[in-house]
Amino acid sequence: MPRDHRPSDDITTVWEPCGSCWGQRVIWTLHRHGGRLHREACPGCLGVGQRAVIVAA
Ligand SMILES: [Zn+2]
Repeated sequence: MPRDHRPSDDITTVWEPCGSCWGQRVIWTLHRHGGRLHREACPGCLGVGQRAVIVAA
């Protein structure tokens, strides 16, 4: 994922917390058998914790 993307003057990129993991970057799943938490990378933001929202000026 390129991180050096520069928005143009007409487009503004706004970062908002991922709604799936609430910025935690991971999803914790509680296993009923064993009672321990299983950690998975958030599928919503792919472990970034934020989502880029393109807003046209
Ligand atoms: Zn997420």
